[in-house]
Amino acid sequence: MNQRILRSIHDVCALEHVRQEFGFNPECIRSFRNAYYKRAEGLEAAKHFLPAEVRDRWDDCFAPAELEVVSRVDSSRDGATKLVFRTRSELLLETVVLRILSGRTSVCVSSQVGCAARCAFCATGQMKMARSLQPSEILAQVQAVSELVRAENRRLRNVVFMGMGEPMHNRSAVTQAIRQLIDPKWFNLSENHILVSTVGIVDELIEFAREMPKINLALSLHAARQEVRELLIPLAKHTPVVELKRSLREIEQCRGRPIMLEYLMLDAVNDGEEDLAALVDFCADLEVHVNLIPFNPIQAPVGVRGAELTLRPSTKARIADFSARLKAKGLRVTTRVSLGGDIAAACGQLVREHDLAHVRKAARSAAERA
Ligand code: SF4
Repeated sequence: MNQRILRSIHDVCALEHVRQEFGFNPECIRSFRNAYYKRAEGLEAAKHFLPAEVRDRWDDCFAPAELEVVSRVDSSRDGATKLVFRTRSELLLETVVLRILSGRTSVCVSSQVGCAARCAFCATGQMKMARSLQPSEILAQVQAVSELVRAENRRLRNVVFMGMGEPMHNRSAVTQAIRQLIDPKWFNLSENHILVSTVGIVDELIEFAREMPKINLALSLHAARQEVRELLIPLAKHTPVVELKRSLREIEQCRGRPIMLEYLMLDAVNDGEEDLAALVDFCADLEVHVNLIPFNPIQAPVGVRGAELTLRPSTKARIADFSARLKAKGLRVTTRVSLGGDIAAACGQLVREHDLAHVRKAARSAAERA
């Protein structure tokens, strides 16, 4: 066999290249993909649909697996599981499995390691940006979770891009991964069951909405007053709220479905009367659905750098009142239940704790050696 670059098994062309080299029937690829991606039977089982010579020379044909699980934490309360994966370049990333009582199972995937958006309320935002993930690294998260939930007699139904990273800073890899997720020859998931969440990188978002109009979109708004939004999402200073609204109108033109507006409820930061009025104003004439999200602090109340501001959850009464008054204005509103509160399920928390544990361990060893 000629020397060549080893491709990931999740690479769109990988199997076809190997097929041409070994000259086997294309039907084998179809059977392999059905077993591996659609039925999540595991790689070893799926390999049996490929010729023996390919199985025997697997390591000469495909790159090693892109992700290795380094830890798993299961919630004792609500069926959430957080997985920490290590990439081949030794970076850590998180993926969360959400098992809803109704039987629906979702996976929340990461699109980057670290995040340049640096949102004040987010553990990933407090890390350094390492790099964007490849499509195959995004798909490997979905594949690992498909196999995990299959062993529980569940089927993975929803994929949400709400883990580490800003998907619109890695649009081309996210788009490629979604193409394979919805492709009947690959994962065969419904477009309705995929959601991409963004802080609103407008040019990329408009392009994405044009390219994938049926994929659900969530905008992390979190404040409709510009000065508050900039405190929470430093990147927001590049996109005034008025411009953000104009972009949403443009996006509406190419979509037949409402955009979700994510609104983290923060005590005395974005839950006041002025904030409510600004949110109602922002939503006017837009096809949106507002999700109010109770805040799950990173560990303790979070201080915002450069501002005399501490982030704490709004009270339940305030969230209920906010919701009722938005509904009274004719808006569609849901108050989300945050799963995984006991396993640090908000994005980046566990990787941060891993890193801290790592740092503490190294410090202890250094102290012992001294
Ligand atoms: S909330 Fe999302 S966009 Fe903001 S820092 Fe965290 S990962 Fe990045």
